[in-house]
This record gives sequence, structure tokens and C-alpha cells, in this order.
Amino acid sequence: MARPITIVGGGLAGLTLGIGLRQRGVPVTVWEAGQYPRHRVCGEFISGRGQGSLGRLGLLDGLKQLGACAATNAAFFTPTATVAARPLPEAALCVSRFTLDQWLAQEFQRLGGDLRTGERWAGEYGEGIVRASGRRVEPAAEGWRLFGLKVHARDVRLTADLEMHFGPDGYVGLCRLPDGETNVCGLFRSATAVPDLALRWRDWLRGAAGSALHTRLTHARFDESSFCSIAGISLRARQALGQREVCAGDSLSMIPPVTGNGMSMAFESAELAITPLLRFSQDELDWTQMRQQLGQACDAAFISRLRWAAWLQRALFHPPARAALMFLAARSETLWRGLFEHTR
Ligand SMILES: Cc1cc2nc3c(=O)[nH]c(=O)nc-3n(C[C@H](O)[C@H](O)[C@H](O)COP(=O)(O)OP(=O)(O)OC[C@H]3O[C@@H](n4cnc5c(N)ncnc54)[C@H](O)[C@@H]3O)c2cc1C
Repeated sequence: MARPITIVGGGLAGLTLGIGLRQRGVPVTVWEAGQYPRHRVCGEFISGRGQGSLGRLGLLDGLKQLGACAATNAAFFTPTATVAARPLPEAALCVSRFTLDQWLAQEFQRLGGDLRTGERWAGEYGEGIVRASGRRVEPAAEGWRLFGLKVHARDVRLTADLEMHFGPDGYVGLCRLPDGETNVCGLFRSATAVPDLALRWRDWLRGAAGSALHTRLTHARFDESSFCSIAGISLRARQALGQREVCAGDSLSMIPPVTGNGMSMAFESAELAITPLLRFSQDELDWTQMRQQLGQACDAAFISRLRWAAWLQRALFHPPARAALMFLAARSETLWRGLFEHTR
């Protein structure tokens, strides 16, 4: 008899792990506090190795059939400089989380997984229980309160598949989605309390009058039903080894959104967990051995990437460092590729 696995959180990491385990016959229950479909604060830009994980789990073709579109170039804007559209070192995939999370939930159920929606796990994280409950909430980090906003819009003319706009308080990504929509998603910081986002989200996402971002969104028609926000974001790089809980996705460690790599890490960490959990389920490893094996694999895969991303995030919030980076990235193919390579 295979030992059952419980996964707390039916986001990308939890559902992908659930699918991988069900493909191998492991009994799995996913607890999800919310319902599907639902919008998530996310740039909806899948960059990096996660596409490989999806391919190995047989999910990539389905994702493309869902209408996920390829992003092949990106442009960057600051108040003082522009890096015009440049080819990305590898194509990214853009898809709405409204569609993606629901589709993964259906796949999990199709494979016989037990999905308990609208149920919040309040128990311990003991043997057989995996935490995939998303980001760790931290009211402030180094004196800053981080918050995220996202909305879908129409009538936005982009100069690249992905445009990143940097301002004094954060950055906004504009990403082409299927069906003529654009995802508008930003990460911001505030030294005082988080502002009233329900009231002022348009001002934050539109940027300062006269900026390239503001111009881009002049005629935008926002789909208000897609608006969502989160606060208390923690971007501290965390090691897996030594954590008491077995984690996947953001609950393991959240990478700065500017890398477009969080979803990738959710898929990758889920894939890494499949074999150790399968062996636990089949009684070949005890829980401590499983945790050790998985912790080592996650740290080998993610720690260097998380450190580079933390460095990049810091630089982007520091105007002189950001200006230097933009100047060099516009001229040096090696730096441009290196930034992607180290954070993917
Ligand atoms: C501003 C911003 C922009 C971003 N842009 C990008 C981007 O362009 N590209 C990219 O790759 N990544 C991006 N990300 C990151 C990406 O959204 C996350 O990395 C990804 O969603 C992580 O997936 P996850 O499954 O770990 O967590 P989530 O998707 O957050 O899922 C966690 C789930 O757990 C559930 N849950 C929580 N607690 C419980 C409980 N106790 N019981 C039951 N259920 C529970 C929640 O309801 C949720 O559904 C961005 C993030 C932010 C904040």
C-alpha cells in the first residue's frame, strides 16, 4: 500500500507536484483555501527552466493548446534610459493564471487526485505533508513594505512582448497575453504603511505622468474583475536544507518577480520533489531521509539563482546602479545573456 501524500496549497507548485505524484500512482490530496478559476498577482511570464519541467511532466503541449503564447523579446524603461526591444536568450511563455491554475486543477482531478477546494489547512506540517501554500508573509523587509498589483487590460500598444518599466517606487511589467490582452503587473515598495490599494491601484500601475509607462496605458481599458493585490511580500532567499517543513514553490523561497522565474521555480521544485516523495510513499525512504534528499536537490538548483536575483533586485531599486546596469545591458550581449543565465 502506497503511503498517501497531503499537499497544502493548490497553486502552481502544489498542483504540479500533485499531478507528478498521481502520474506515478501515489494517493494525493490537495487542500486549497480558494476556488478556481481565480486571478493571481503575477506577471504571467514563464521564463527559464520551468518549461523543461512542464515538458517532462507532459504538460507543455496542453499549456500551448490553452493558448499560452511565446514571448521572444523584451524592452526596458527607466526615467532616464531605454533598452529597446532585444531578443530574449530563450523564449518565455505567457498565459493568464486565471486559465493556468484552473487547467492544472482539472488535470490533477482527471488523474484521480483528491482536490479539496475552499478548505484551509490549519494542522501541523508533519510526515507526509508538503507545504506549497505560497509566499511567506512578512510585513516589512529592511524597512520596506512590498506589495504587488495586477490587472488585465486591452488597447495597450507594446513595443516588445514584455516591457519592464522601472520607477522610483517599483517596477511594472507589461506582458502580451493571448486574445489581445495585456497583463499589467507591478511590484512596489513603501517605507510607510501600504497605501489603500483598492482605491489607488490605477495610479500605482500607470506610473508618473509623462513616463513611457503612463503613455503606454493612456488608452488602456482595464478589466476590473481581473484586478488583484497582495502585500507582505518577503523576497528573502531561503535555504531548503534545515527547514523543518517540506516545501515547494514560493513557500520554499520566493525569487524577485523581475526575473520572471517564480512560476518556473514552482514547477521545478515540484518536479524535484516527485521522486523523493514517491520513494517515501513506497517505504524506501523515511521522512527524514526524504527531507534531506529533497533539501539538497533544491539548494543545488536554487540557491545561486536566488542570490543573483536578490542582487539584481537591490540594484534595480538603487537609481545609480540601475542606470549603470541599463547602460551596460543595452550594449553588452554578454551581460544581457549573463543576467538571464544567472537568474533562470
Ligand atoms: C508582483 C509579482 C509579479 C510576479 N510576476 C511573475 C512572473 O512574471 N513570472 C513568474 O514566473 N512569476 C512571477 N511571480 C511569482 C509567481 O506568481 C509565484 O512564484 C507563483 O505563483 C508561486 O506558485 P506557488 O504555487 O508556490 O504559490 P501560489 O500560486 O501562491 O499558490 C499557493 C496556494 O496555496 C493556497 N493556500 C495558502 N495557504 C493555504 C492553507 N493553509 N490551506 C490551503 N490552501 C492554502 C493559496 O490559496 C494558493 O492558491 C510574481 C509575483 C509577484 C508578487
